[in-house]
Amino acid sequence: MEIEQLSTQHLNQLRQLCNEAGIKLTHQRLEIFRELMSVNDHPSAELIHKRLHKKHPTIAIDTIYRTLSTFDELGLVKKLYIMNERTLFDTNVTTHHHFICTHCKKVKDIYWSDFDNSTLPEMVDGMGKIESRHLEIHGVCNDCLHKSEE
Ligand SMILES: [Zn+2]
Ligand SMILES: [Zn+2]
Repeated sequence: MEIEQLSTQHLNQLRQLCNEAGIKLTHQRLEIFRELMSVNDHPSAELIHKRLHKKHPTIAIDTIYRTLSTFDELGLVKKLYIMNERTLFDTNVTTHHHFICTHCKKVKDIYWSDFDNSTLPEMVDGMGKIESRHLEIHGVCNDCLHKSEE
Protein backbone atom coordinates (compact mmCIF):
# COMPACT_ATOMS: atom_id res chain seq x y z
CA MET A 1 0.00 0.00 0.00
CA GLU A 2 1.34 3.41 -0.91
CA ILE A 3 -0.21 5.24 1.98
CA GLU A 4 2.82 7.45 2.41
CA GLN A 5 1.87 9.31 -0.77
CA LEU A 6 -1.21 10.53 0.99
CA SER A 7 -0.68 13.37 3.38
CA THR A 8 -0.87 12.24 6.99
CA GLN A 9 -3.31 15.01 7.71
CA HIS A 10 -5.76 13.81 5.06
CA LEU A 11 -5.36 10.23 6.13
CA ASN A 12 -5.98 11.03 9.77
CA GLN A 13 -9.04 13.01 8.81
CA LEU A 14 -10.36 10.08 6.78
CA ARG A 15 -9.67 7.63 9.64
CA GLN A 16 -11.34 9.84 12.19
CA LEU A 17 -14.43 10.54 10.09
CA CYS A 18 -14.90 6.89 9.20
CA ASN A 19 -14.47 5.98 12.80
CA GLU A 20 -17.03 8.49 14.01
CA ALA A 21 -19.50 7.41 11.35
CA GLY A 22 -18.92 3.74 12.11
CA ILE A 23 -17.67 3.08 8.59
CA LYS A 24 -14.92 0.58 7.99
CA LEU A 25 -11.92 2.01 6.23
CA THR A 26 -11.49 -0.70 3.63
CA HIS A 27 -8.57 -0.99 1.27
CA GLN A 28 -10.82 0.07 -1.63
CA ARG A 29 -12.08 3.15 0.19
CA LEU A 30 -8.52 4.09 0.99
CA GLU A 31 -7.41 3.65 -2.62
CA ILE A 32 -10.30 5.72 -3.92
CA PHE A 33 -9.56 8.44 -1.41
CA ARG A 34 -5.89 8.44 -2.34
CA GLU A 35 -6.72 8.75 -6.03
CA LEU A 36 -9.22 11.50 -5.31
CA MET A 37 -6.67 13.53 -3.39
CA SER A 38 -4.03 13.11 -6.09
CA VAL A 39 -6.32 14.57 -8.76
CA ASN A 40 -6.10 18.23 -8.06
CA ASP A 41 -9.20 19.16 -9.95
CA HIS A 42 -12.88 18.33 -10.04
CA PRO A 43 -12.89 14.71 -11.11
CA SER A 44 -15.90 12.65 -12.12
CA ALA A 45 -16.42 9.13 -10.80
CA GLU A 46 -15.58 7.91 -14.29
CA LEU A 47 -12.20 9.62 -14.23
CA ILE A 48 -11.34 8.16 -10.84
CA HIS A 49 -12.39 4.77 -12.13
CA LYS A 50 -10.27 5.11 -15.23
CA ARG A 51 -7.21 6.11 -13.25
CA LEU A 52 -7.66 3.40 -10.63
CA HIS A 53 -8.40 0.73 -13.18
CA LYS A 54 -4.77 0.29 -14.23
CA LYS A 55 -3.63 -0.61 -10.73
CA HIS A 56 -6.88 -2.01 -9.37
CA PRO A 57 -8.85 -3.58 -12.21
CA THR A 58 -11.29 -5.17 -9.77
CA ILE A 59 -12.76 -1.92 -8.44
CA ALA A 60 -16.15 -1.47 -10.11
CA ILE A 61 -17.59 1.89 -11.10
CA ASP A 62 -20.54 1.26 -8.74
CA THR A 63 -18.12 0.97 -5.84
CA ILE A 64 -16.60 4.30 -6.83
CA TYR A 65 -20.03 5.96 -6.98
CA ARG A 66 -21.01 4.53 -3.61
CA THR A 67 -17.71 5.43 -1.99
CA LEU A 68 -17.78 8.97 -3.33
CA SER A 69 -21.31 9.39 -2.00
CA THR A 70 -20.10 8.17 1.38
CA PHE A 71 -17.22 10.64 1.26
CA ASP A 72 -19.74 13.35 0.38
CA GLU A 73 -21.83 12.46 3.45
CA LEU A 74 -18.69 12.54 5.58
CA GLY A 75 -17.89 16.01 4.27
CA LEU A 76 -14.62 14.91 2.67
CA VAL A 77 -15.72 15.94 -0.79
CA LYS A 78 -18.52 18.00 -2.20
CA LYS A 79 -20.76 16.81 -4.98
CA LEU A 80 -21.01 19.30 -7.80
CA TYR A 81 -23.75 19.26 -10.36
CA ILE A 82 -22.26 21.22 -13.16
CA MET A 83 -24.53 22.45 -15.91
CA ASN A 84 -27.01 19.66 -15.18
CA GLU A 85 -25.00 17.05 -16.96
CA ARG A 86 -22.24 15.63 -14.84
CA THR A 87 -21.65 14.90 -11.22
CA LEU A 88 -18.20 16.00 -10.26
CA PHE A 89 -16.45 15.74 -6.95
CA ASP A 90 -14.69 18.62 -5.35
CA THR A 91 -11.93 17.85 -2.88
CA ASN A 92 -11.93 21.49 -1.89
CA VAL A 93 -14.68 21.68 0.71
CA THR A 94 -14.11 25.31 1.65
CA THR A 95 -16.57 27.94 0.41
CA HIS A 96 -15.83 28.76 -3.20
CA HIS A 97 -17.39 29.13 -6.61
CA HIS A 98 -16.66 27.89 -10.10
CA PHE A 99 -15.68 29.05 -13.53
CA ILE A 100 -16.77 26.46 -16.05
CA CYS A 101 -15.46 26.37 -19.57
CA THR A 102 -18.36 25.59 -21.88
CA HIS A 103 -15.87 24.28 -24.41
CA CYS A 104 -13.51 21.88 -22.59
CA LYS A 105 -15.73 21.63 -19.47
CA LYS A 106 -12.81 22.36 -17.18
CA VAL A 107 -13.82 23.68 -13.77
CA LYS A 108 -11.78 26.24 -11.93
CA ASP A 109 -12.16 27.48 -8.37
CA ILE A 110 -13.16 31.06 -7.66
CA TYR A 111 -12.90 32.71 -4.26
CA TRP A 112 -15.19 35.64 -3.70
CA SER A 113 -15.61 36.60 -0.08
CA ASP A 114 -17.51 39.78 -1.00
CA PHE A 115 -20.16 37.61 -2.58
CA ASP A 116 -20.16 35.14 0.32
CA ASN A 117 -20.72 37.95 2.81
CA SER A 118 -23.08 40.02 0.71
CA THR A 119 -26.71 40.56 1.61
CA LEU A 120 -28.94 38.47 -0.58
CA PRO A 121 -31.83 40.10 -2.43
CA GLU A 122 -34.85 40.53 -0.20
CA MET A 123 -36.93 38.19 -2.28
CA VAL A 124 -34.61 35.29 -1.31
CA ASP A 125 -35.56 35.68 2.34
CA GLY A 126 -39.15 34.83 1.53
CA MET A 127 -38.16 31.63 -0.22
CA GLY A 128 -36.83 29.68 2.72
CA LYS A 129 -33.77 29.04 4.82
CA ILE A 130 -30.46 29.51 3.02
CA GLU A 131 -27.95 26.73 3.56
CA SER A 132 -25.27 27.60 1.06
CA ARG A 133 -24.69 29.68 -2.02
CA HIS A 134 -22.76 28.61 -5.03
CA LEU A 135 -22.08 30.59 -8.13
CA GLU A 136 -21.31 29.16 -11.56
CA ILE A 137 -19.71 31.38 -14.10
CA HIS A 138 -19.79 29.99 -17.62
CA GLY A 139 -17.42 31.02 -20.35
CA VAL A 140 -14.56 29.92 -22.55
CA CYS A 141 -11.28 29.41 -20.71
CA ASN A 142 -8.01 30.98 -21.86
CA ASP A 143 -6.62 27.65 -23.04
CA CYS A 144 -9.57 27.19 -25.38
CA LEU A 145 -9.46 30.81 -26.51
CA HIS A 146 -5.79 30.48 -27.46
CA LYS A 147 -6.39 27.20 -29.22
CA SER A 148 -9.05 28.69 -31.46
CA GLU A 149 -6.67 31.49 -32.42
CA GLU A 150 -4.05 29.11 -33.74
ZN1 LIG B 1 -11.68 25.43 -21.99
ZN1 LIG C 1 -14.10 23.65 -6.67
